[in-house]
Amino acid sequence: MAERLGELTRTHTCGALRPDDVGADVVLLGWVHRVRDLGGLLFIDVRDREGVTQVVFDKDDEALMSKGKRLRSEFVVGISGQVRRRSPDTVNAKIPTGEVEVLVRQLAVLNEARTPPFSVADETPVAEEVRLKHRYLDLRRPRMMNNLVLRHRVTSAIRRYFDAQGFLEIETPILGKSTPEGARDYLVPSRVHPGEFFALPQSPQFFKQILMVAGMDRYVQICKCFRDEDLRADRQPEFTQVDVEMAFARPETIFNLIEPVMRDIFRVVGREIETPFPRMPYAEAIAKYGSDKPDLRCGMPIQDLREFFRESPFRVFREIVAGGGTVRGFVVPNAGGYSRSEVDGIVDQAKALGATGLIWARRADDGTITSSIMKALGDETVRRLLDETGAANGGLLLIAAGEPDGASKLLGQLRLSLARKDGLLVNGEYAFAWVVDFPLLEWDADEKRYVSMHHPFTSPHDEDLDRLGIDPGSLRAKAYDLVLNGSEIGGGSIRIHDSSLQRKIFSLLNISDEEAKLRFGFFLDALEYGTPPHGGIALGLDRIVAILAGESSIREVIAFPKTAAAVDQMTDAPSTVDARQLRELHLQIRQ
Ligand code: ASP
Repeated sequence: MAERLGELTRTHTCGALRPDDVGADVVLLGWVHRVRDLGGLLFIDVRDREGVTQVVFDKDDEALMSKGKRLRSEFVVGISGQVRRRSPDTVNAKIPTGEVEVLVRQLAVLNEARTPPFSVADETPVAEEVRLKHRYLDLRRPRMMNNLVLRHRVTSAIRRYFDAQGFLEIETPILGKSTPEGARDYLVPSRVHPGEFFALPQSPQFFKQILMVAGMDRYVQICKCFRDEDLRADRQPEFTQVDVEMAFARPETIFNLIEPVMRDIFRVVGREIETPFPRMPYAEAIAKYGSDKPDLRCGMPIQDLREFFRESPFRVFREIVAGGGTVRGFVVPNAGGYSRSEVDGIVDQAKALGATGLIWARRADDGTITSSIMKALGDETVRRLLDETGAANGGLLLIAAGEPDGASKLLGQLRLSLARKDGLLVNGEYAFAWVVDFPLLEWDADEKRYVSMHHPFTSPHDEDLDRLGIDPGSLRAKAYDLVLNGSEIGGGSIRIHDSSLQRKIFSLLNISDEEAKLRFGFFLDALEYGTPPHGGIALGLDRIVAILAGESSIREVIAFPKTAAAVDQMTDAPSTVDARQLRELHLQIRQ
């Protein structure tokens, strides 16, 4: 039977007591974390959000002792008693309260608990499905609790920062109109307007731009966004963005705004990061790292080797270069320990990734030189190749050739997989970069038309505008991504604030005037009423917190996430609804 809380009032949290408190009368309220029943001696660890405190029962108080012996893990208790110092041999240095314990005078069992499906106290791995189904128990585990505390601290730091910079947090609607972020919308049928639907926001893009038209000047919102995509490992159907927009901004304005907030965020975990972050054009990121989100923790840039091979004795590469193709490679330092079969394994891996072949050359720890094209190139040329690419003793040079983007992407994948294998992507090391100057458009071969690389409101570079009608594929956008350790943690752009340019971009995207009017007419209208130049960014809060927490999945930093199959295991959503609800919404389910 659950006892009443009555007048029991917490005096201290379970993480608070220290030797200075010895002799104090205290009341702790929390959960039974562990029970240690040693026959004549009974110890209970009581836990709340702040920590764990050991509580001990007086063996001479039989009634209290027998009540205490009925306690089980996860019962809710109120304990009043006196703080005493633990004997030196029982001090627990692992917890902050470990020098003291509370001698119980009174115990109230505020609630009992069923035997949990997994232990809260022993953080042994548990299948994720089970954890998500009983999320309330999972969240009691210190790891998850710490993650949510961290998330709160991060969002508080973000709010403090933007407030100090004069930003207003303005809420935007959840029930709205489709935004063209490029993903599928979640739709909500309207009961009042049969056959009509709201779309949940993929981002507040329109609203934040319209807030700039409205003169709000600086907007921030920590908001939920919804995208109905097939879930990849690090995606959730609903996720949280720190959404920002600013009038009269250039890309540098946004960088100078975001770098200090990242600094504040990292200070939450006691880390000082270096600013400014390097800026890297998209084309350089692809050429040097084979990715638009390069992980800069591990060096090993990809080098252009065309000049070396243009006149080389190796006919295959000579012909590829002559035909406009590329030859690129990167050096894995400290690969002296790689066995021959490991090197062959890398070649196989490259083939599995789609390469027709991967060439290698290496300098062993003792300086001996070997190469898969030793015969074709000759000893001297291989030596020169290793010299020119900076491969010292122990260095392994890997080379791919062919079409430029393909060769870089392949080498980029190999680079990351070798860096991972060799432990070069050190957890707790943070390498930021701004990737800038993304192409404005990319060619969609299926749809045979250009699509926006960011979104259709992204401004082209002023210097590129004269190529708009001639070579649209070559236009660079004033778009930027913030990359951390190979993850995109933010992205944004300077927007088009001129309605005639916006119309031109729509027509490049094959969006007709009528369609533009239907989908974004309200927005195009707004642009005509004195729109200031403006730009913004959205930061992925879930991912940032996951990186800070050292978690590989964003589900570990979201209180109630969905599974990879977009299901809420605890509430069983999505679920069917009753016939009356469907009728009211004018919907019919086709079997
Ligand atoms: N709305 C964009 C996004 O959600 C970010 C931005 O352009 O500010 O990716």
